[in-house]
Amino acid sequence: MKAVVIREHGGIDTLRLQEVPTPRPGPGEVLVRVRAVALNNLDVWARSGPPGGRPVYPWGRMELPRITGVDVAGVVEEAGPGVAGVAVGDRIVVNPIRACGECAYCLAGEQTMCPGYAILGEHTPGGMAEFTVVPARNVLRIPDAVPFEVAAAAPVCFTTAWRMLVTVGGLRPGNDVLVVGASGGVGAAALVIGRHAGARVIALVGSADKCRKAEALGAIPVDRTEHPEFSKRVWALTGAGVHIAADPVGRPTWPESIRSLRPGGCLVICGASGGERPDIDIREIYQHHRRILGAPMGNVRDFRTVMELVFRGALRPVIHAVLPLSEIREAHRIFEAREHFGKIVLVP
Ligand SMILES: [Zn+2]
Repeated sequence: MKAVVIREHGGIDTLRLQEVPTPRPGPGEVLVRVRAVALNNLDVWARSGPPGGRPVYPWGRMELPRITGVDVAGVVEEAGPGVAGVAVGDRIVVNPIRACGECAYCLAGEQTMCPGYAILGEHTPGGMAEFTVVPARNVLRIPDAVPFEVAAAAPVCFTTAWRMLVTVGGLRPGNDVLVVGASGGVGAAALVIGRHAGARVIALVGSADKCRKAEALGAIPVDRTEHPEFSKRVWALTGAGVHIAADPVGRPTWPESIRSLRPGGCLVICGASGGERPDIDIREIYQHHRRILGAPMGNVRDFRTVMELVFRGALRPVIHAVLPLSEIREAHRIFEAREHFGKIVLVP
């Protein structure tokens, strides 16, 4: 099969489709013919090296060579021994979380708290390929009317954003929500979920063009290049600060995200793409009863909830571009140049 195999860190010119052996499904696994796979930070960092050269917490360095690709939709091509409930030919989307299934966290339904928690495409070969092998219990059938590109655009970002805003953040209709990095995958998903849940969403983005796109999705845009102290703009818009700020960026935006919160409000975090050591005055947190809550990815319940809403058309993933997998370099270029608003999806 053809696959994008990352063998070393480097520029986009190191990316190429290569011929590698097609994997075979073991017991309890299925071979999936990949029909769509979405690009994430993880794919880009696997190639470029993690931001700042810092090992990825808590796992350390990714082992190379690696076929990345976390967000996969496709067709079941072959079932391994002992697979039930999934049939060859089924159209499916993959839950990228792997967990032991036996520890106290797994039994409580909190798979991402499992000590054995792992992610497809990071710890096991992923979907930037014509085929990939996944546990049969990780696949979810998708309705005929849902395109593969739409299904593949959702798993990581919508599950994470749902976890942040709803499961952990306790979002209520009428809440004010600030989404930092709203043009990124998680940010755009948070914007869409926030609007769906009846929140007023303020979207922090980095250009006039992205402001227009955020506005078209029902958010109130704030251009951070015009408002570097964006909390002042947030307070001017809301009069009282926001109930929830979702910030996947970290160091560059944390202080202003915290200042954007009303007393008792919470900052929900899932990443630190801009750096992990913010310079903050902790008195700004406790003196205003503010909270900071971690939400790295979501559990199986979060995944199934958002996918069901995507299948119904209630949540619509924002797709920036659909490219053939052979244009993997262009996909990485768009992503690194931050030209995108929403997901870049590749089709093998
Ligand atoms: Zn476990």
